[in-house]
Amino acid sequence: MPPTTADLGTDAKQICQTLLRTDTTNPPGNERACAEYLAGLLAQVGYEPTLLEARPARTNLVVLHRGTGKQPPLLLTAHLDVVEADPTKWRRPPFSGDEFEGCLWGRGAIDMKNMAAMCTAIMLKLARDGVRLERDVIFAAVADEEAGCDLGSRFLVEEHRALVEAEYAIGESGGFSLHLGNTTFYPVQVAETGFCWVRARIAGEPGHGSMPRADSVITKLGEALARLGNAALPQHPTSYVTEFLDAIRARQPALVQPLVRLLARPQLLGRIARLVPGVSVARSFSALLGNTAAATVVRAGSKTNVIPGLAEFEIDGRTLPGQTDQDFLRELAAVLGPDVELEIIKSAPPTMTEPIASPLFDIIQRQVLAREPDAVVVPYMIPGFTDAKYFSQMGARWYGFSPVKIEKDAGIKFADMFHGHDERVPVAGLVWGTEVLDAVVREIAS
Ligand SMILES: [Zn+2]
Repeated sequence: MPPTTADLGTDAKQICQTLLRTDTTNPPGNERACAEYLAGLLAQVGYEPTLLEARPARTNLVVLHRGTGKQPPLLLTAHLDVVEADPTKWRRPPFSGDEFEGCLWGRGAIDMKNMAAMCTAIMLKLARDGVRLERDVIFAAVADEEAGCDLGSRFLVEEHRALVEAEYAIGESGGFSLHLGNTTFYPVQVAETGFCWVRARIAGEPGHGSMPRADSVITKLGEALARLGNAALPQHPTSYVTEFLDAIRARQPALVQPLVRLLARPQLLGRIARLVPGVSVARSFSALLGNTAAATVVRAGSKTNVIPGLAEFEIDGRTLPGQTDQDFLRELAAVLGPDVELEIIKSAPPTMTEPIASPLFDIIQRQVLAREPDAVVVPYMIPGFTDAKYFSQMGARWYGFSPVKIEKDAGIKFADMFHGHDERVPVAGLVWGTEVLDAVVREIAS
């Protein structure tokens, strides 16, 4: 274990590199080695970190920097597991932690061992400096985010709530430089869509394959899938998305006008995807303006000469803040018609920080602008879910802010780094992020 240096940025880099060299692909996860490594560093400066496992080797770490208690706690959090990486597609081995072209390379460099390293470096410095803050600062490095959080944030919130309860939580995802036109934006995540997975069933008369029937469940299945694939579900613009678009529009009207025109007719997006540059951006915004439904699994029939009596498909549905599962089922039923019976397989509600404005949001904004006066800090919502889902359930106001500065000409698109090939974090951007986050933590907690 390399010793830490008492320099915030150097520590963050070294810790990140060591974490990247430890394979925590989930499944199976095996976060224990990473959690024990961080616990060892934290213990060296006097902390008493707690390691907690819902299952062997699926380790979560919680550590507390005790404050005066005059204000409620602040939680910093990062997940230690990563998604798989195919080494044949990478320019550097995905568990090398190599420093190359000014970046640390490895699965988790952005999602999100960088944040685990930054938080650890910040906790080390808080202890070394002997600062007494008004809030307890808790750092939770969690397992299992990539497979749904059951053994990580959900386990901590359900089984060890007292250890992680906080007024504010800072975690995934946001805080990266987003270059649009000639403006740099720093999105801060304040909302996530919910999910509603649905089984759709079509029942009918079975028959012999030698005597085709027009009302076969297979034909109805095909029609239902086509209707769903071509449907545009109703739009429900939320402040989480409109504020983001307005902020961009205020700075970059020329950039956003075509986007806004596209968003008004989302059903066209698929058809013009190949023709219009930037349409993938438009599609991802479009996924934030309405509930979405994607058919993902289809099951029907087992013998070539038998027309089956039952056909099923599964729908990955995502719901916006303000929308319930029942709202979503009504929208599906309107598209699919009365022959298709719908049943929820699993669901979780959307997550949101309300109101978006808060002293913490102001501090994040101020600390970013102090370093980059021309940048714009904007709240945003992601289509998907993170540990915010569970930490918000205990009442913490979530801000996704894991800051990384990415230069405009670096050839790195932050969004492509998530689960992509050649995941890497610029070393200078990591150091920048650690300093910003450290300043945010000290200001909100003092
Ligand atoms: Zn992540």
